[in-house]
Amino acid sequence: MSMIDLSIGRDLEAQLEQVRRLGREHLRPLGIEADSRREPVPPDHPFFALAWRMGLGQPLGVEERPASGPRSGARRGVVLAEEMSYWDRGMSVAMPGLGLGGPPLLSMGTPEQKERFLAPFRDRERPHWAAFGMTEPGAGSDVAAIQTTAVRTGDDWVLNGAKTFISNSMRADWIVVWATVDRGAGRAGHRAFVVERGTPGLEDMRYEHKMGLIAYESSSFTLRDCRVPAANLLGGERYYAERAGFKGAMRSFNATRPAIAAMAVGIARAAYDAARDFARTRYALDRPIPRYQRVREKLARMARKIEAGRLLCWRAAYLADLEQSNEIEASMAKAFAAGMAQEATGLAVEILGDAGVTRDAYVEKLYRDVKAMDIVEGTGQIQRLVIARRLVGLPA
Ligand SMILES: Cc1cc2nc3c(=O)[nH]c(=O)nc-3n(C[C@H](O)[C@H](O)[C@H](O)COP(=O)(O)OP(=O)(O)OC[C@H]3O[C@@H](n4cnc5c(N)ncnc54)[C@H](O)[C@@H]3O)c2cc1C
Repeated sequence: MSMIDLSIGRDLEAQLEQVRRLGREHLRPLGIEADSRREPVPPDHPFFALAWRMGLGQPLGVEERPASGPRSGARRGVVLAEEMSYWDRGMSVAMPGLGLGGPPLLSMGTPEQKERFLAPFRDRERPHWAAFGMTEPGAGSDVAAIQTTAVRTGDDWVLNGAKTFISNSMRADWIVVWATVDRGAGRAGHRAFVVERGTPGLEDMRYEHKMGLIAYESSSFTLRDCRVPAANLLGGERYYAERAGFKGAMRSFNATRPAIAAMAVGIARAAYDAARDFARTRYALDRPIPRYQRVREKLARMARKIEAGRLLCWRAAYLADLEQSNEIEASMAKAFAAGMAQEATGLAVEILGDAGVTRDAYVEKLYRDVKAMDIVEGTGQIQRLVIARRLVGLPA
């Protein structure tokens, strides 16, 4: 067991300060505006270009292997993810960048594929997005059950199927689409393809209307005889012949899961601040809210669990940077943080009383935003299954 290095470093501190400023001026106001209009923030919004020029994108802890020295991307990811999500979790996912498309490209892609598909992301003039398409109307947690087929015909692969709830896919330059070459083979039949925007057969792109996190779009689409060149099979044929490709790709999520968990910590912190400020203001106005023992106890419970959640995220990220196994720690961070954040937003609404349930109460928005945190990147139930399996020594 290794200790956690809790130092942040001057560069990251400066970046955090930048995020705080952008958060106050842009992330939170834009998240609130999107929520009240019930429309995602459009990709041509000037804020995205501004953030992109400043080098800020989706904070998921994804990085190319540094030429020398230790990795630090996962730790940077959790710190920035918490801060951005504190200001607005929907906006932190709406930010340009590779998003969840990054891990499979970076861990499975051939050097040529990385060069080709990362090239647009090196252009700082115009923001770019990528996406990750696994979930289907009939396959969520049970990813082995995906039904989208891939059939090799000549120099192309032909994809047929449907994907749902794919973050940022409507605005993405490319989407990593998971399909199967053999529906009966489970994970061994899975292949990942980079499907570029405008590819004929990538159709019916539409966004789902969510109860929260409105600032970014979760889109569904159809693949109808969608032809992608063989060069877009991620990793090339050899990758799948040599290893169980799916497992390899999933391992790369060890860096992103702690960042997603940290986003839940960010929402919880926002709820805590709102509840604490409310209690203080009420006190100043001579309503005795903070004198109530139960209110103080609720605030203390929120603060305590936020700290615990953050430490779990940091530890899981630290292990990811050391390239040590962190499956159990990442699942613990995700399961704990998402549940804790749900509790925190609920307590914040309670502390505000009637003011907490009005449509323009900020905590009401957080209460709706937080729910999906227990669903994305593996549901809480699935994380608990992963933890339990490891604890009793069952195979994954
Ligand atoms: C906001 C948002 C963004 C998303 N972004 C993406 C994205 O970018 N790319 C992508 O591919 N997907 C994305 N998803 C989809 C997400 O990954 C799935 O919703 C998630 O994997 C759960 O799948 P499901 O919704 O089909 O639920 P199901 O798997 O059908 O689960 C339904 C319920 O059953 C429980 N359950 C399932 N299996 C078991 C089991 N074996 N034992 C006990 N309980 C079980 C679950 O915990 C859940 O409570 C997104 C979803 C949301 C809400």
